[in-house]
Amino acid sequence: MSKNVIYLDYAATTPCDTRVLAEMIPYFCDVFGNPNSLHSYGIDALDGVDKARIRIKGLLHSKFEETVFTSGATESNKIAIVRTMQALAKSGKNHFITLKTEHKSVIDCVDYLKRNGIETTLLDVQHDGLLDLDHLADSIKDNTGLVSFCFVNNETGTIQDAKKIVEICRDKGTLVHTDATQAFGKIPIDVSDLDVDFLSASGHKIYGPKGVGIFYFKHSNRKFISIPGANHEVEFGIRSGTVPVALCVGMGIAAEIANAEMAENLKHVRKLRKQFIDGIHASLDETYINGSETSNYPGIINMSFRGCEGEALMMEASGIAVSSGSACTSNKLTISHVLAAMQIPADIAQSSLRITIGKSTTEQDIDVAINELIVASKKLRAISPVWDIIISGSNVDSIFSKRY
Ligand code: PMP
Repeated sequence: MSKNVIYLDYAATTPCDTRVLAEMIPYFCDVFGNPNSLHSYGIDALDGVDKARIRIKGLLHSKFEETVFTSGATESNKIAIVRTMQALAKSGKNHFITLKTEHKSVIDCVDYLKRNGIETTLLDVQHDGLLDLDHLADSIKDNTGLVSFCFVNNETGTIQDAKKIVEICRDKGTLVHTDATQAFGKIPIDVSDLDVDFLSASGHKIYGPKGVGIFYFKHSNRKFISIPGANHEVEFGIRSGTVPVALCVGMGIAAEIANAEMAENLKHVRKLRKQFIDGIHASLDETYINGSETSNYPGIINMSFRGCEGEALMMEASGIAVSSGSACTSNKLTISHVLAAMQIPADIAQSSLRITIGKSTTEQDIDVAINELIVASKKLRAISPVWDIIISGSNVDSIFSKRY
C-alpha cells in the first residue's frame, strides 16, 4: 500500500540508507562480541563502537570521550535535563529554563522536574518561533542551573540563534543544552566553536537505524551526568547495560555520510522547498508558512491551508504521507503546542500540515504533492462553513475560541 504513497514525513523518521545497513550487518552475526569482554571477540566489537564514535567526532568536532551512544534523542534529552538538574539542585541551582516550543521529550522532562520540586520556566517565542534573546537574558536568575533549547524546531524548521543563546548562558554562568535532533547531520554544527555544554541527536532522522542516538557532553560536565555507584556502567559511566554495537556502527556511518553529503542535500531540499511553496501559493489563496522565513532548515515546511482542518486535509490527500499540526481527541480539536506558542491564530494553526523533504524526494514527488493538496483543499473548502465566513471577510476568531 505505502509504495504508492509519496513519503514526505522525513522529520518523523527516514529510511535506513543501504550503505548504513551494509556497514551494520557484520555486527549482528560475525562481529557479535560484547564490547565489554576482554577477549578478541570483545575487542573487535569495541573497535566497531570506537570507529563509530570517531565518525561522530568528525561531524560534531567533539573529542572522542565527549560523546556516548544512547537509545535516541529522547534519552539524551533526559540525561541532559533531568540528571543535570538533579545534580545542580543539590547546590542551590534549582531553576531550569526552556522554550514553550520544545519537543514533547523535553516538555516531559519539565513536568518531571516540576513534580520533583525544581523550578521551571517555559519561555514564549516570537511569532516566527525565534526566541527573543533579551527575554532569555532577563529570565536567567542566580539560581538558574540549565537552559535547554531546540536547535531546529521539529514542526516548523525554525533555526534558533544557537551561538547567541550559548553566549548569553556563558555570560550568566548557566549551563546550556541543545536538542539538535533535527539539525544534526543536516546543517553544520561545530561543538568546539559553539561551546555548548550538552547536545542530543538521533540516528533515525539521518538515514541511520532507529533505537540509537548520541549525547554530547563537555568533559568537564561529566560529573553532573555519570551514574553514581552503578556496577554495570558503560559509555564512560553515563549509561548501563550492554552496548548495541550494530546500532552504534549504523549511527556512526550515517553521521559520516550526512556530513559528506550535507551541502548537496541542503541544496536539494532548498530547491524542492521553493518548488512546493511556489506551487501551492500560485494556486491556493489563504495559504501561509508558519515559522521563520529567514532562519530555517528548508527540509521542514509548515504550511496552513485556511478553511481546511489539518487532519481532514491529511486524510483527503491520501497519495502523500505528511503530518498535521492539529489532532482531534475526545471530539475536541487540539492545536500544536508549537503553533500555539507562536500565537498563530487558531483557525490558521488548525489548518496546518508539516511537509518534510528528504534526500530521495524528487521534483515529480513535489508536483504530485502540490496537486494532491490543491485538489484536497478545494474539495474541503467547498463544504466548509468556515471557508465561507473567511471569504466573506468576516472574523472567524469567535468560532474558534468556542472550539478549543
Ligand atoms: N527532539 C526532537 C526535536 C525530535 O524531532 C525528536 C524526534 N521526533 C526527538 C527529540 C526524539 O527523538 P528519538 O526518536 O530519537 O527519541
